[in-house]
Amino acid sequence: MDNTAVATELEASHAHLARWAAELEERSPLEALEWAVEQYADRLTFATAFGPEGCVLIDLIGRRRLPIDIFTLDTGLVFPETYELWQRLEARYGLRIRGVEPELSVEGQAAVHGEKLWERQPEQCCHMRKVVPLRAELARVDAWITAIRRDQTPQRAGALVVEPDEKFGIVKVNPLVRWTKKQVWAHLLEHDVPYNPLHDRGYPSIGCAPCTSAVKPGEDERAGRWRGTAKTECGLHGPARASA
Ligand code: SF4
Repeated sequence: MDNTAVATELEASHAHLARWAAELEERSPLEALEWAVEQYADRLTFATAFGPEGCVLIDLIGRRRLPIDIFTLDTGLVFPETYELWQRLEARYGLRIRGVEPELSVEGQAAVHGEKLWERQPEQCCHMRKVVPLRAELARVDAWITAIRRDQTPQRAGALVVEPDEKFGIVKVNPLVRWTKKQVWAHLLEHDVPYNPLHDRGYPSIGCAPCTSAVKPGEDERAGRWRGTAKTECGLHGPARASA
């Protein structure tokens, strides 16, 4: 296929997604998940870090027994509470959530790049422990599901229910993009969905333990992520960048 044909095909595919994005904007998260299964079947995966939104999607997938592959990026640095939640969710819904590990163990990374790389170069650390493993997983599928919401960060404000993911060259499905934090918590409580107990101890957004701190009342819900640095995202969402 020549460049013109590739560009034409890409344009048609983007137009197709734009039509579905408009259609799904009015639908429920469950309907967006079901649509994704219909469209992409086993070429679909869901990446979760077990945030409240991820737990909502696991609940919907688990209760409807949707045939969706689920994985988490196991950096080796997450909180014990997060590992426990992972096990509780698997037991509750009778499903398996794959752990995807980076090439280097925490000790291996320290040996090659020095101790506590996250304190000196968090972008590089996230790149090796999250972005590279994620890219390898996404290279095997046509679409991935994420649990992002528009009001989480300015970078996520323009996200659609379904959109091309320029960074990874596949389709991104964001079933909860329209939901508010209040809706997420209402769902968790109404359906008695397991969630991370750290949320009740001042941690609204939870990533790796070394890069997550509690937030004070009135602070942004992601203020505890990479506190004291300009970093606000792992590099998993948003435009393609050379370093992340
Ligand atoms: S969140 Fe922190 S510890 Fe985890 S991969 Fe990123 S920089 Fe490394």
